[in-house]
Amino acid sequence: MEQTIKGGTVVGSDGQRVADVAIRDGQILTVGPDLQPLGQVIDASGLFVLPGMVDTHVHLMDPGPTEREDFPTGTRAAAARGVTTIIEHTHAHPIRSVIDLDTKVAYLDGRSNVDFALAAHTWPDRIDEMPALWEAGVAFFKMFTCTTHGVPALDGAHLLAALSTVAMIDGRCLIHCEDESITAEAERVLKEAGRDDPAILYEWRNREAELVAIAAASVLAETTGANATMAHVSSPDVLAVIQAAQRRGAVIAAEACPQYLTLHETEVLELGALRKFTPPARIRNDADATAIWDQVRAGAYSHFSTDHAPSTVAQKSAGGIWEAPFGLPGLDTTLAFLLDAAARGEIAMSDVVRMYSTSPADRYGLAPRKGRLEPGSDADFVLVDPAGSWTVADQDVISKAGWSPYSGRTFRGKVVATHLGGVEVGQDGIGHDERRGRFVNPRRLNDR
Ligand SMILES: [Zn+2]
Repeated sequence: MEQTIKGGTVVGSDGQRVADVAIRDGQILTVGPDLQPLGQVIDASGLFVLPGMVDTHVHLMDPGPTEREDFPTGTRAAAARGVTTIIEHTHAHPIRSVIDLDTKVAYLDGRSNVDFALAAHTWPDRIDEMPALWEAGVAFFKMFTCTTHGVPALDGAHLLAALSTVAMIDGRCLIHCEDESITAEAERVLKEAGRDDPAILYEWRNREAELVAIAAASVLAETTGANATMAHVSSPDVLAVIQAAQRRGAVIAAEACPQYLTLHETEVLELGALRKFTPPARIRNDADATAIWDQVRAGAYSHFSTDHAPSTVAQKSAGGIWEAPFGLPGLDTTLAFLLDAAARGEIAMSDVVRMYSTSPADRYGLAPRKGRLEPGSDADFVLVDPAGSWTVADQDVISKAGWSPYSGRTFRGKVVATHLGGVEVGQDGIGHDERRGRFVNPRRLNDR
């Protein structure tokens, strides 16, 4: 089957140009000006044509606590809003062995509306299983320096062993950095004082805990040579620690998430558990927000992801601030957030593609199939109307969360349609539930 996208502005990580895109059997055939139309013609005049977004930090809770999210729903949200590939991992149902991976891949057959890769969790007493898991096809290893979401912490010795393994196999990892002893002691002191007000969030998950863990993980990545991503970097102070290690030669990357560029630290005081995520929001004033955008423009962050970890309002408010689940929904809104940043002139349209498509695809072994519109790539693309806009409302949110931290905000630029392998999977805020998504194994990328 052949298709031609006519008359759009094709955006890549390095710029944009008016060009047509020819597609055959779900793959890009040619990109160039004034192509002879082949097969079905998609009129993209006045629209941007972007490669599908690649969101590498997503929790869909399936299998797991599916009352919070599941694959059909979460990936329908992705398809509706321009994300065509995700890398998923669920803390409550971790992949720790090759059998776990095979079982999850089989379970997810027919449950995904976008393509997906899977990440494993590194458990302190199962580090020796990492090489086999990598060979079997996990996209990265998730590691925690603090016991969180039921995943045990890796202390210094175990993090050293795990990162040495990553370096040995030339693997990839994503490290959640908060120091175990600092968060545990803060929790003890706060609870002993009888505190259960929302301000405990940023006193418990404090800046020092993140800085100390980032420093330790950066040093160990540097000495072992492991290629590590520091998850959800919350502030320029944290970035500075990462950059110091990068200057010494550490092969590490900083992951950005929208919440750290726009939500303020004290919102939790009014909104309680709806702002409970960790590390928490750090912005205190406009200057803090400006400083982060300056770093985004300077290329300090390797890529954006959502850290999509939804709960419904009812789930968030079932207990007190200590008991409420961590996390925010994000798959519905991350591309919209970035398109709006481009419309406001904070970043270029090519930066949106670089940071939310090309760079994450490259980092986690999904290139050249994902993250670009080039001959041989999958025909995963998003049509964006720069003149459109979207005022986010809770009822638009497809995720089971059913709410968004951005409800009420107007994002400029609008996703008109999303195609996966040349087939429309989302249109005008609707995700089709046709389950066309397939597992992508980064070690066997040519098995389509
Ligand atoms: Zn996460």
